[in-house]
Amino acid sequence: MLYDNYHEQIYDTAELEQRIHDLMEDDEIMKKSGIYSYVLSGDLRDLSFRTFDKKQKREAYERQQGICAHCGKHFELEEMEGDHITPWAEGGVTTAENCQMLCKECNRKKGAK
Ligand SMILES: [Zn+2]
Repeated sequence: MLYDNYHEQIYDTAELEQRIHDLMEDDEIMKKSGIYSYVLSGDLRDLSFRTFDKKQKREAYERQQGICAHCGKHFELEEMEGDHITPWAEGGVTTAENCQMLCKECNRKKGAK
């Protein structure tokens, strides 16, 4: 797949190797398998998963102090779901900074739109 998309472009392989090496060392990046795609495509979404992990959700939850970003009511962490502030479809990455916690009700309504 990558070959089909990129084989006509010429890359400096030494520079690519270095970038891949640097990214592999970065513990913040969750999806190491996405590094090759990212280096070629420049799309940050290749580096992260679409769903938030527990740590990211907890961080967003604590930042919001348990308040749903939509309805403004307080919920327990288990009653909430992570939502991309900048939508995934618009290039939003799956990081704690781009995560807002919504109660399940609001998240369901938002998804239904
Ligand atoms: Zn809500």
